[in-house]
Amino acid sequence: MIRFENVTMKYGANDAPALDDVSLDIGRGEFVFLVGASGSGKSTLIQLTTRELSATRGKILVAGKDLRVLPDRRVPLLRREIGVVFQDFRLLDGKTVYQNVAFVLKVLGAKRHVIKQLVPETLELVGLEGKARRMPHELSGGEQQRVAIARAVVKKPPILLADEPTGNLDPEISEDIVKVLDRINKTDTTVVVATHDQGIVDRFGKRVIELRGGTIIRDEQNGRYTEML
Ligand code: ADP
Ligand code: ADP
Repeated sequence: MIRFENVTMKYGANDAPALDDVSLDIGRGEFVFLVGASGSGKSTLIQLTTRELSATRGKILVAGKDLRVLPDRRVPLLRREIGVVFQDFRLLDGKTVYQNVAFVLKVLGAKRHVIKQLVPETLELVGLEGKARRMPHELSGGEQQRVAIARAVVKKPPILLADEPTGNLDPEISEDIVKVLDRINKTDTTVVVATHDQGIVDRFGKRVIELRGGTIIRDEQNGRYTEML
C-alpha cells in the first residue's frame, strides 16, 4: 500500500538529507508505529506519502500510484485514498461534530443520502455516538481527536496516517485513541502512526519502524519503542 524505494529527501541543496536512502514496504491492512527522536524524519516520511513534499531521489508508490510521475492535478485523487490525523486536531471551530465530518463528503461531492448514512456510522465507529450536535470547544481533547479521526476516515480511505495523534493527550486517553485506530485498522485500513509516545507503542505490540537521522535503523513485528536486546 505504501512503498518507498531508495528515497532521499533534502529540503535544501546544501542540507543534510531528512531521509537518506529509505526503503520500506507497508502492506494492505498493516498497522505500523513509526518511531524515532524529534528530527529523525517521521513527518517528512508522512508528507512524502501525501505528496505534500516530493522526494529528491527514489520511488514512492502509494495505493498503486507512482508519486514521481503523478501529475499535480491528480494529487486530489491520491488524497482521497489517504486520511490524515494530526496532533492538533485541526477541527472547524464553527461547525458541529456532524458538520465537521460531513464537510469532507460534501467537498467530495457525495450525495445527501450517502452522507446521512456514512456520518453517523463513522461517529459510532470512533465512539462519538450522541455527540453529533456538539461544537468542538464543548468536547474533551480525546473527543476532539475522535472527531478528527472520523473526518479522516469517513471517505473510507484505504490508508490512515496519523502524525503524533496522542501528543496533546493524557496517557489513558492516548490509549483509547490508539484503540480507535486499531478498530479502524480492523476494517481493512492500513494505519501508520508516527509517534514518540513510548507508552502506546509498548502497549500495543505492533510493527515498529524506527528512524534515526533519516535512515531506518529497525523494522520489527510486535516491536517495542526501544529495541529489546
Ligand atoms: P520528525 O518528524 O521525526 O521530528 P522531521 O521529518 O520533521 O522529523 O525532520 C527531519 C529533518 O528534516 C530534521 O533535521 C528537520 O530539521 C528537517 N526539516 C524538516 N522540515 C524542514 C523544512 N521545512 N525545511 C528544512 N528542513 C526541514
Ligand atoms: P480539497 O483538497 O479538494 O480542497 P479537502 O481539503 O477537504 O478538499 O480535502 C479532501 C480530503 O483530502 C480530506 O478529507 C483530507 O483527508 C485529504 N487531504 C486534504 N489535505 C491533505 C493533505 N495535506 N494531506 C493528505 N490528505 C489531505
